[in-house]
Amino acid sequence: MKTALLLVLICALPSLACSSDSKTATEPTMTAEETAPPSDTPESASEQRVVRTEAEWRELLTPEQYHITREAGTERPFSGDYWDKNDVGTYECIGCNQNLFLSNTKFDAGCGWPSFFEPATEGAVIYLEDRSLAPRIRTEIRCSRCDGHLGHVFDDGPPPTGKRYCLNSGAMLFKPAEE
Ligand SMILES: [Zn+2]
Repeated sequence: MKTALLLVLICALPSLACSSDSKTATEPTMTAEETAPPSDTPESASEQRVVRTEAEWRELLTPEQYHITREAGTERPFSGDYWDKNDVGTYECIGCNQNLFLSNTKFDAGCGWPSFFEPATEGAVIYLEDRSLAPRIRTEIRCSRCDGHLGHVFDDGPPPTGKRYCLNSGAMLFKPAEE
């Protein structure tokens, strides 16, 4: 009982305190994740997976959208439609219309690309190691339904997550909230 209470107390403290204690908190981050309420449905996302041929993608998307989502391209900063958009609504995937990001998680990172601190749902995006700028290793983000390249996620974002999901406008379609 005593140990359990101590563990709860330690993990209630900031993560610094948690990671500095090697006796009781063996895996502090895992514990925090496991106790979080389940909010995503990755199974349903993969069930509805959208698969198209290269020709179909080329017909559906503009050359710019195709380059970004199917060839992991990056639009020029300050060039896309959404980097300075502040309207209330949802950003959907351009390839499959899955809800990717919500406007209330958008922030101005000053980088010229639309930036968010978290996805609309945990299962909306998948994460891949990107070594294309090696030795710099980045984390690529893709749509979990159609596998379209979206951008990258970095650890220099604002609270509450500290993450910066750096998106290409060309990978998304903005749907304004209903009045
Ligand atoms: Zn998609």
